[in-house]
Amino acid sequence: MTQTHVFDVVIVGGGGAGLMAALNASRSAKTAVLSKLYPTRSHTGAAQGGIGAALGNLEEDHWEWHAFDTVKGSDYLGDQDAIEFMCREAVQAVYDLEHFGLPFSRTADGRIAQRPFGGHTNNLTKKPVRRSCYAADRTGHMILQTLYQQCIKNGINFYDEFQVLDLILSDGKAAGVVAVELATGELHVFHSKAVVFATGGHGRMWEITSNAYAYTGDGVAITLRNGIPAEDMEFFQFHPTGIYKLGILITEAVRGEGGILFNGKGERFMERYAPTIKDLASRDVISRAIYLEIKEGRGINGKDYVYLDVRPETVNKYAELDGRTRPDGTPYRVTAEEILSKIPDITDFCRTYLGVDPVKDPMPIQPTAHYAMGGIPTNKYGEVVVDDQGTVLPGLYAAGECACVSVHGANRLGTNSLVDLVVFGKYAGIKAAEYAKGADLPRLPADPDAGVRRQLDNLLNGSGRERAAQIGRELRKVMMDDVGVFRTEEGLKQAVEKVRELRERYKQVRVSDGGKIFNTELLNTWELGCLLDAALVTAVSALERKESRGAHAREDYPRRDDENWLKHTLAWLNEDGSVRLGYKPVVITQYAPKERVY
Ligand SMILES: Cc1cc2nc3c(=O)[nH]c(=O)nc-3n(C[C@H](O)[C@H](O)[C@H](O)COP(=O)(O)OP(=O)(O)OC[C@H]3O[C@@H](n4cnc5c(N)ncnc54)[C@H](O)[C@@H]3O)c2cc1C
Repeated sequence: MTQTHVFDVVIVGGGGAGLMAALNASRSAKTAVLSKLYPTRSHTGAAQGGIGAALGNLEEDHWEWHAFDTVKGSDYLGDQDAIEFMCREAVQAVYDLEHFGLPFSRTADGRIAQRPFGGHTNNLTKKPVRRSCYAADRTGHMILQTLYQQCIKNGINFYDEFQVLDLILSDGKAAGVVAVELATGELHVFHSKAVVFATGGHGRMWEITSNAYAYTGDGVAITLRNGIPAEDMEFFQFHPTGIYKLGILITEAVRGEGGILFNGKGERFMERYAPTIKDLASRDVISRAIYLEIKEGRGINGKDYVYLDVRPETVNKYAELDGRTRPDGTPYRVTAEEILSKIPDITDFCRTYLGVDPVKDPMPIQPTAHYAMGGIPTNKYGEVVVDDQGTVLPGLYAAGECACVSVHGANRLGTNSLVDLVVFGKYAGIKAAEYAKGADLPRLPADPDAGVRRQLDNLLNGSGRERAAQIGRELRKVMMDDVGVFRTEEGLKQAVEKVRELRERYKQVRVSDGGKIFNTELLNTWELGCLLDAALVTAVSALERKESRGAHAREDYPRRDDENWLKHTLAWLNEDGSVRLGYKPVVITQYAPKERVY
């Protein structure tokens, strides 16, 4: 029997964005958070390096500089009004987190400590600026714990381990969601005036990824299936430094603290690709550089990886060569102890997974699929926008990695996702509650969970001619080979065809576990369906974009083409599996597109 619950605002996702939305919505609206994971297991907890805000605690900095760096980092595809809004709000957002009790690392005089991060610069000297606020290399963990404590204190209703499988729309408005309770397998309808999606990313469609198992694009797939487009899906960030073969992330903070990249010939190759900020260039630039080094035979021992070296003697040697100083003007020099205290978790990962001690040996790394710039289209208040005219779907909101505001454009700067979560999570929560206050409870359609029952029945009663695990493997491989760091027409065509084939074969899958209690096989198979839908719109959007911009690097169209492509992609997934593309302009306020050099 399906149970029905009634709330003003239902938030799907208990990560940074969802909890921030919940805190703000719950001040005036009856709010529930549904999360397929226990909230503190959300991927926000894995964020290491920090949250960017122009506090200027250690040197001169301005939110306007942060905004310009973000626009440039986005390869001019980010909407500049939203970027300015985010970078201005970021400063207060960090102080809010501090006041919530977040234990930031501190400067000697007790202020929030800050460190350099890729693409964040002093706009006058073009040199790296210390802008990333951090709590050792556990910044996301601390944000998540802090926000969760605040939510508990505020008595927010949590439905932990409830997985949302569908959105309910009624008379063109959001009217709630349908979820399955993992412990019992029972369906629940959450009938509400407003719904906020904060479901995180979809990086599990690539073979080498830093992303958690739960990153299966549920929010994007559910909205696509309900006629809502996905924006800029072709832009997916590969982080340059994943642990070789495993993809586990090694934070950019390692380079912020002075780590250097070397190829097989022992050359500091970033000097050639980004002469000014070298190892702290933005991620797309460094990932491409690593691929090119490897392609030209300069991987370590000719293999497909390079070294990231944070041994104190290396850091000190290159700090001297670069003339790097501490905030007080003295030369920047580090000891092994200092490195260990700044990146304790990374050190642990490397020792555990690689048997490599980063203060004694260089770390083997390769680019790893990391972050979805694209997602559910929203405006800067988190309202979901369904066309190229800015039309809002009443009652529906999205925030965090699943959303595309767009502040990251074609390439996100490190530390800017955590900013995005707290700023846009907050506004999505506020706006959802305001909307709920003025709205009546929408009419619930007859049989609101019929669609979900049909989807699950299909998975339980398929022919069994295909295996989900095999389809997943083939998906991850084709995405890695053909929709990765470098792309070509031929590869993308092949990928589109392959994903279409996999979507067909998926219809023949049968889940062997027919049980109700914690049927993870059933839900993992359902998630594979989400990845397939998200992968199809990603590949189709990438095939169509005939230029190189940010994370989308086409070997056959190596230049950025502002004349034809300074626009956002919107992709609709039709019921017959075809994808319709549309475009909308980029919002430009004061930064005219320029060539991007670091
Ligand atoms: C290893 C790693 C390190 C990173 N480091 C940094 C960093 O230093 N700085 C930075 O700015 N960014 C960093 N990022 C990026 C950043 O952490 C993420 O983009 C961000 O935390 C995403 O937050 P979110 O709230 O959108 O999603 P999450 O925190 O992942 O939360 C998603 C939530 O949605 C729920 N959910 C998903 N699907 C469903 C469903 N169908 N039904 C119910 N619930 C669902 C999940 O249970 C979860 O609670 C890092 C990312 C990774 C992977």
